[in-house]
Amino acid sequence: MTFHKNDIEHTVCPMCECEKYKKAYDFTPFAVVRCDACGIFYLNPRPAENAALKLYEDDNYYKGKERGYSNYFLQESALKATFRKLLQNLKKRGIYGGSLLEVGCGYGYLLEEAKDFFDYRAGTDFSDNAVLHAGKKADLVVKGGVEALPPERKFDCIISMHVIEHVYTPKEFLEQLMPYINPGGRLVIGTPDMGSFWRIIMGRRWSSFKVPEHVIFFDKKSLADLMHTIGLQNIAIIPYPHAFPVSLVAEKFGISFPSFLDRFYVWIPATTIAMYGTLSQ
Ligand SMILES: [Zn+2]
Repeated sequence: MTFHKNDIEHTVCPMCECEKYKKAYDFTPFAVVRCDACGIFYLNPRPAENAALKLYEDDNYYKGKERGYSNYFLQESALKATFRKLLQNLKKRGIYGGSLLEVGCGYGYLLEEAKDFFDYRAGTDFSDNAVLHAGKKADLVVKGGVEALPPERKFDCIISMHVIEHVYTPKEFLEQLMPYINPGGRLVIGTPDMGSFWRIIMGRRWSSFKVPEHVIFFDKKSLADLMHTIGLQNIAIIPYPHAFPVSLVAEKFGISFPSFLDRFYVWIPATTIAMYGTLSQ
């Protein structure tokens, strides 16, 4: 996908509105920069928000013809294994049962795995095709963000994996979720870890520099600070090993694999931060 220059915008820091930054990684016409004031990494320039939203509503985003999840279907078994491990890790911390909302549920792989962990499962997504697929695997799936849900609806747990790095106003995004959490309920956020050794070793080849879809890059401290700012308590990290198809990993190293190996996957640690906080009673 190519962007017309009218579809590209310059921005202040999405966290603190500072205008000063230093360029860290060049992805012409885009760049990952670091805020001089708060130290967060963000995309600047970036696609105008309307151009980005069009990208997510396009079915090709999921089919991986251009950008987006490369071969999202191919990754199905690896993603399900990843989500199942997350759900098990949440259960170990007493986070299970009751009602679950997943914001940005994609094709519903997490919601499907969650049937053994939560009594009621709902999801939201901006893509029609994702809503169609996920709708078969959950109690309720609506198109849009949380505002598409009835305002009185509340959940014991809200999970949003690999969404916040796409969001232009991350603080407002999390604040919008808060009224949908029951007192004592949990918010679980997952996002690529900018502080991971993978980013440090791989530099601009780091696979989570998905430019231009990823517009903000958190590490453990910046994500915990944000969750604290919006009023969550007892913020803690959950281990989040991520499974990837063997063929996808091999491709990164320039090795081709026979397609029957697609269903095999390998666990890769420390690619993603998963963190949860509690809404006070
Ligand atoms: Zn800043």
